[in-house]
Amino acid sequence: MQFFKNINRLLSDPEKRFDLFVAFPRFYKLFLNQRLHFLWQRFLVVILLVLIVAGLFGPQDPARNGMLYLCWGLWWPMVILSLFFVGRMWCGVCPFPVAGRFLKACRLSLEKTVPKLIIKNSTGIAVIFFMLIIWVEESTGMKDSPKETAWLLIVIWAGATFCALLFANQSWCQYFCPLGKLMGIGASISWIEFRPDHSSCRQCTTYACYKGTEQLSGCPVSLGAVKVTNNLKCLVCGHCLQLCPHNSPQLNVRHPLSELIIRKGKLITCTMLVPFLMGSQLARFMDQNIFNLMDRIELVCLYDWVCQMGLYAVPLVIGFILVHVIISYGDLFFGIYHDELMGRFSPMIPVVLPLAFAGELVSRLNYTFRNLPDFIPTLGRQFGWETLERLTFTIPEWVYPTYGVFFIFLSEIAGLYLLQKFFVEECEGIVPLWKYRAIQVAFFALFGVYLCLMSTGWHIPSINIMLLFQ
Ligand code: SF4
Ligand code: SF4
Ligand code: SF4
Repeated sequence: MQFFKNINRLLSDPEKRFDLFVAFPRFYKLFLNQRLHFLWQRFLVVILLVLIVAGLFGPQDPARNGMLYLCWGLWWPMVILSLFFVGRMWCGVCPFPVAGRFLKACRLSLEKTVPKLIIKNSTGIAVIFFMLIIWVEESTGMKDSPKETAWLLIVIWAGATFCALLFANQSWCQYFCPLGKLMGIGASISWIEFRPDHSSCRQCTTYACYKGTEQLSGCPVSLGAVKVTNNLKCLVCGHCLQLCPHNSPQLNVRHPLSELIIRKGKLITCTMLVPFLMGSQLARFMDQNIFNLMDRIELVCLYDWVCQMGLYAVPLVIGFILVHVIISYGDLFFGIYHDELMGRFSPMIPVVLPLAFAGELVSRLNYTFRNLPDFIPTLGRQFGWETLERLTFTIPEWVYPTYGVFFIFLSEIAGLYLLQKFFVEECEGIVPLWKYRAIQVAFFALFGVYLCLMSTGWHIPSINIMLLFQ
């Protein structure tokens, strides 16, 4: 009962926090115990190796190789979904940095400092990596190719290991990982945040969370609890818990939109990645609906992947331009797009961010649900267990609009709430009412585009908006 009262208090006040480490000391011990993280990570390394081997050397027919579903249908969508509930906790057990850490422990790393030029442009580099992945993933049919999927995993793993060989700390996670950047964005609307207790940090003289001690190195991404101010960069690995002499780190439950309200679009990662992410989602929905975009592109290109990538760039660019125009239009009407301290920022980014997250989730869950009934039979075909062939089932068509509409409406309400909050509290008297209404219209237009493109993938004519016009 007390728990629900606390949740209610959190929802009514974005400033309120509720420390899980204090409320559940066992939870604190779980985080403090790094052996558990260590075991999880090693277990996930084994899974990663199995997936790569299955992708490279297993059957290449997608109906006979279960690694595709494990990667695209389970692992990635579950990581995206988990962001909302536990933030970037996946990064705390992610297997990609393990090989690099092992090489560092063997003193094989050059431990160089990352050049300033790279640091300055790291967000742009990660965004380009991310766009490349989406572009190749969608236009070459990677989700149907075990070998390509395995190569993607190898490239990310190699990137993390190479950076560990060259640079100090987990520089891949800190600057370049495209998955990490996306997760940071998702985690900014999480219920959970990892933060320091500033009153404890004020008495601190060691800053061990950041610098480390003689026995233990400091934060792997050069943060340390003391410097964590948002959910974008901290891996929530819990490493600094054992370093802090004052029990400062807290794991707070909070209002999921509080970070967006506090930051108001001053997060450069979000400003750069969100329009690309949303643009790519519009293109992806066109593939998952009655347009069957990739089938048409494949027919035109006769399965030539260079041609496919070229043609697929067109809807990607159109999607990006559409989102960018709506965001810029909103920024223009807000009249605030430059801050003396923070530089250029976009108040529209936090408004559309929940929609970007919901779109990503729905697009990934579409793959999960469409392919779930065939997963066990696929394993049966892969390992020659014919009895598994019968373990299939059908997912009723109403499931797709149910979760699709649920997540998109939820994000729409979140966006409207943020819009109203900025209009009433942050820009009180600055933005005229008619401009506020105009921004609302633009936001609804974006919402309409999402719903329209998504709904054409639901084989339910009565709610299929596009079919009504056919
Ligand atoms: S940033 Fe990337 S490589 Fe690093 S822990 Fe997170 S997902 Fe793994
Ligand atoms: S988190 Fe702990 S170690 Fe880091 S500055 Fe605060 S009190 Fe010091
Ligand atoms: S601040 Fe602490 S929890 Fe966050 S990444 Fe650094 S060591 Fe891990």
